[in-house]
Amino acid sequence: MKNYRSIEEVVHPAPAHMVGNGFRVMSYHPNDDSFGKRMSPFFLMDYNAEVDFPPTNDPRGVGVHPHRGFETVTIAYKGAVAHHDSFGNSGIIKAGDVQWMTAGAGILHKEYHEKSYAAQGGPFQMIQLWVNLPKKFKLTKPKYQAILHSEKAALTLPDNKGTVHVIAGEYEGLKGPASTFSPLEMYDIRLEAGGKMTLNVPAHFNTGILLLDGEVNVNTSQLVGSENFVVFTNTAGEILIEANKKSTLLFLSGAPLNEPVASYGPFVMNTVQEIQEAFDDLNAGKFGKLE
Ligand code: MN
Repeated sequence: MKNYRSIEEVVHPAPAHMVGNGFRVMSYHPNDDSFGKRMSPFFLMDYNAEVDFPPTNDPRGVGVHPHRGFETVTIAYKGAVAHHDSFGNSGIIKAGDVQWMTAGAGILHKEYHEKSYAAQGGPFQMIQLWVNLPKKFKLTKPKYQAILHSEKAALTLPDNKGTVHVIAGEYEGLKGPASTFSPLEMYDIRLEAGGKMTLNVPAHFNTGILLLDGEVNVNTSQLVGSENFVVFTNTAGEILIEANKKSTLLFLSGAPLNEPVASYGPFVMNTVQEIQEAFDDLNAGKFGKLE
């Protein structure tokens, strides 16, 4: 019998809540606690399962707000998201594209449904992750990586039964385009019914899979339905995914930071003192300006 990496918990989503007026998201709480406590370096995962937004010509999303001490990673699946930040970066991401923003020392940004998509309305599906930064990089210079779906390293599974697009890290020798501040793996996986694949990452990496939609069997024995997040134990072993239906998955795995965390609203730091400094620097205008 194969040595599979054990499943620790299948986490069901918390009830959906609105972020601004444009994102209807569900959070995940392994062990009934915060995502970050179990999944470091991943600090938060908000999943906007597919929802139909009506057409509008008004801005829909989240207005100007600050971040410090981590990275926001937004993956679009349906619809389109526009972004502007106080360092002059802006972009639009559409199906499959990723926006990887390093807030680092401090940034202001706003996140909206892209204008023409909003005017038309229709299905919207996305994920936003917060990836914590190691203590020594908390105050790194803010930066922005726009990663188009076509730029992800892609592997087609045998018999055309699916694709693995590597966003960060490396799968089967394919390196993802995102640069990261700590070792982590992030793959966008699409499987057809009958598609299967294996994953193998270091035992100490915190590891989980979000099933966005579809139905899969994990390690031949655990049936997982859509919108659930599977957390694996920190033990050695291979993960086997077999799709019963056409499925979309996000694979997350990373070396835990093992550093103290102090977080408040849009700031993720190591101490309460640093949270206070974040507010002071924000009020002093050090995060720049954004209308
Ligand atoms: Mn934000």
